[in-house]
Order: sequence, then structure tokens, then C-alpha cells
Amino acid sequence: MAKAKETVLEINLNTLEHNYNYLRSKLMPNTMFMAVVKAFAYGSDAAKVAMKLQSLGADYFAVAYVNEGVALRKAGITKPILVLHPLSVNFNTLLKYCLEPSIYSLNLLNQFVIFAKKKGTQDYPVHLKFNTGLNRLGFKMEDTDTIIEKIKGNNHVKVASIFSHLAASEDTNEVKFTESQIATYEKISAKLIEKLGYYPLRHLLNTSGILNYITSQYDMVRSGIGLYGFGNDPTYDKELKPIATLKTIISQIHNLEPNESLGYNRAFISDTYRTTATLPLGHADGIGRQYGNGNTVVLVNGQKATIVGNVCMDMIMIDVTGIACKEGDEVIIFGPELSASEFAGTANTISYELLTGVSQRVKRLIV
Ligand SMILES: *Cc1c(COP(=O)(O)O)cnc(C)c1O
Repeated sequence: MAKAKETVLEINLNTLEHNYNYLRSKLMPNTMFMAVVKAFAYGSDAAKVAMKLQSLGADYFAVAYVNEGVALRKAGITKPILVLHPLSVNFNTLLKYCLEPSIYSLNLLNQFVIFAKKKGTQDYPVHLKFNTGLNRLGFKMEDTDTIIEKIKGNNHVKVASIFSHLAASEDTNEVKFTESQIATYEKISAKLIEKLGYYPLRHLLNTSGILNYITSQYDMVRSGIGLYGFGNDPTYDKELKPIATLKTIISQIHNLEPNESLGYNRAFISDTYRTTATLPLGHADGIGRQYGNGNTVVLVNGQKATIVGNVCMDMIMIDVTGIACKEGDEVIIFGPELSASEFAGTANTISYELLTGVSQRVKRLIV
């Protein structure tokens, strides 16, 4: 791999393939794979990642919002795309780009049915999302009769799938709760299928669901974080590999005398002679202030260097005392060598937030 000359997020598509194959290997041969590529494919590059996954045989894609689905269509994605959180103001665009809405409330169902009728659609695929305990988005079990009334015999829409989302699939202390979600989902989907008179797809599992509750894979699974290399568990983190490496270089080196201060608000005071390096990325690139002031380390020529002082908008400073390095040397912020999950953990957050927070100012480089 070429050494960095600026701040870049390298995306390794071979590693993506490895993760995809690993997750696929957990499934029955006929189970469909929905690749979740919302939020720029978890901060990487949605177009490149989705095109690679499409070529590997991913059956379905999921995004959060309509504009993300439009970007995938423009990039050449021809497989079906589920929009997890469509808003009615975007229905026209959704239809124009053949995106499939998740319908999660009676209000949204009403609006979509009226819209579909006005547009004269035929069997437009919609996905019914049920709340089985997350209490975020989704119909309640009691809504099934009203849903059936609205859509039975209506040829403008057709239920493509019935799904729900697990609240704590990664948490081994919450097995009971997860099992109750699975049981509720079973009940709801059985009732709906009976009343509809046909078989929409069923899907429930996210990445940790695949890893921990594989017997509930139904017709399809929805995986995001696993594709990007994280299993929310040390055991699975060994099998999956991070696809993204955030790299930068040393812009300048400073030698501090004892009692000199560094950075805004003089947050760092050198106890002794210290050498610091300034790096060209800051909170505007996704390295939040919480990572500063000694909380987090990066890698300089294979050695750990602590982020010191306050994180600035466009820069961070690291302590390289005793580390052989010079201006222009490469620095790894996170990647396979330095887990984004551990990096995030130093600031009490999770890999999902760190990855999706790498701002669009950072150049993406496909390798
Ligand atoms: C984001 C999301 C997923 C993917 O979850 P991972 O933990 O990243 O695998 C699956 N389903 C829904 C409804 C989501 O919102």
C-alpha cells in the first residue's frame, strides 16, 4: 500500500469481500443478503462498496433516506433498494428511482397508498416494519387488521417484506429480551401472511443477529457493520477485518521545553522536554474533541503516540517523544492495525459513530 501524502480514508474492497463471504458462510444457501449501505456505507464510499457487493451477489440494498438510494441508482445499482426511513415529502423521488419504502406507521401507510393510487402504480413493493421492542419505528401488532383493510385488494401496492429490528442482538445479557422480540415477530408475520394470502419476505437479523441468533435468519438478513469489519464482540472482530484505514502524515514537529503549553486554552503543559507532531485532521474531519487530552492513541511508524492538548478544527497534536519520526511520515489513526472500535471506546462511543463521522472533507481512496 502506498504511503499517505495527505489525510485519506483507504477502503479495501478485498477485505470487504472477505467480510461478505464470512457473513454469507453463516447463512443457508437460499437466504438472501441485504447489504446495509446507509450513511455513505458507514462512512466509507457507498457507490464503490455497493457496486462491489452487487458484483459479489448481494441480493438487496438498504439505505436510511431517499437521497442515499438515488445516489446508489446513479452509481449503477440495479438490485432492489429498501429505504428504511422514507419521508413523505420524498415519495416522488422514491418512485422515480424505483426505491422501496419501509412503511412503519398507519399515517405513512395512508399517505403512501393515496400517493400510489394517484400515480397509478401496479403492485409497488412496500416493506412493513413492525416494532417488537426497540420502540423507535414500526407498527404495533394491533395495527395488523387496519393494515390489511388498507392494502388487501389494493393493486397499487404489494407487500414485498415484513420485518422488524432487534434492540440488543449484540448483548449476551439480553438474550431473553431478544428471544421475546423474535417470538413477537413470529406471531405478527404469521398473522399477516395468513391474512394477505401470499408470502412476503421475512427478515429480522442485523450483523450481531446473524452472529448470535442465526436460527432466525428467515428469508433474508440485513448486515451493515459486519461488512465493514466489526462484530460488536472480540470473538467476531477476529474473523471480520476493518475495510477502512484512516491515515494522515506529520505536518510539523515541535520540541517543547519543560512547562511550555501546547494548543488552544493551553490544555497541555509539558512536564519535561517533549516532542510533538502536528497532524492535518481535526474535529471537522470526524476526530471529535473527546479524543484529545491524552485519551486516545494513534500509530506512528508502528508505535503508539497519544493525542495531546485540545483537538482543533483542522489539526491534532500527538506526543512523539522518543519515537523515531520526521515531518512527512505516515500516521495511522485507525484501521486493521489499530481498531476503530477501541479508538471509539476511549471516548465512550462505538465504531459506528467514529466511522460514519469521518467527514466528506477526507478523501476516499479505493485499494
Ligand atoms: C442500520 C440497520 C441495520 C444494520 O445494522 P448493523 O448492526 O450495522 O448490521 C439493519 N436493520 C436496520 C433496520 C437498520 O436500521
